[in-house]
Amino acid sequence: MTTGELNRGELKYEGKAKRVYATANPAEYIVEYKDDATAFNAQKRGTWEGKGQTNNAITAHLYPQLEAAGIPTHFIEKLDDRHQRVKAVVIVPVEVIVRNVAAGSFSKRLGIEEGTPLSRPVVEYCYKSDALGDPLINSDTAIALGWATQEDLKTIRELALKVRDFLTDYFAQRGVRLIDFKLEFGKLADGEIVLADEISPDTCRFWDATTNEKLDKDRFRRDLGGEAEAYAEMLRRVTTEV
Ligand code: UDP
Repeated sequence: MTTGELNRGELKYEGKAKRVYATANPAEYIVEYKDDATAFNAQKRGTWEGKGQTNNAITAHLYPQLEAAGIPTHFIEKLDDRHQRVKAVVIVPVEVIVRNVAAGSFSKRLGIEEGTPLSRPVVEYCYKSDALGDPLINSDTAIALGWATQEDLKTIRELALKVRDFLTDYFAQRGVRLIDFKLEFGKLADGEIVLADEISPDTCRFWDATTNEKLDKDRFRRDLGGEAEAYAEMLRRVTTEV
């Protein structure tokens, strides 16, 4: 098989950390993971070697296991260090955040100390808009503005909680507390909702289960240093057989 690089067609979309390319097959895209990092709605920018490869490897390791756990996804296969072959989807412009423990914007918004466990998982929705800084919305907003139907949101919520159950346990077995994470969903040509995008230290908060050391993008956001090492450590743990 040729590599994704060779088959890459027109650039469909460029985000902060990834590029999405068309392929000769209209039902498939190629995703490229970049080394760029941004935070605070792209006001803070950085880059480090290995970031794209690490996030690609972590996502590519987790997605087939999510599929096996009954969660439909866009993932087909990892092509090389930076590229994945995925099913073409139209992204639902609603970012889905799932929280196990208070942190980040939730702590700030509600005055709840970071690290406070939540008595049940919290699912939040944000409008996927860089220009607006991904504002918090509710399901009525998404339905009224035509971003998703009521049925779509029911499916999305159920899948997000299923992902949460799987990942929380998966990381716990590898000495990591899954604090919160962000998911994106897409629609296939036939209308089926599938999990899309990445699952990586860019999109999850991971705290070491023993020390509570941060092993995610907060190292970059908060100028803690050691981001490359933390991402490499997460790849090591994700790929550890237990
Ligand atoms: N997150 C993300 N992309 C975003 C916003 C948040 O991947 O545009 C992730 C973030 O890494 C964290 C979770 O979603 O794991 C919750 O983020 P939060 O709302 O606390 O926002 P933040 O504090 O990162 O601004």
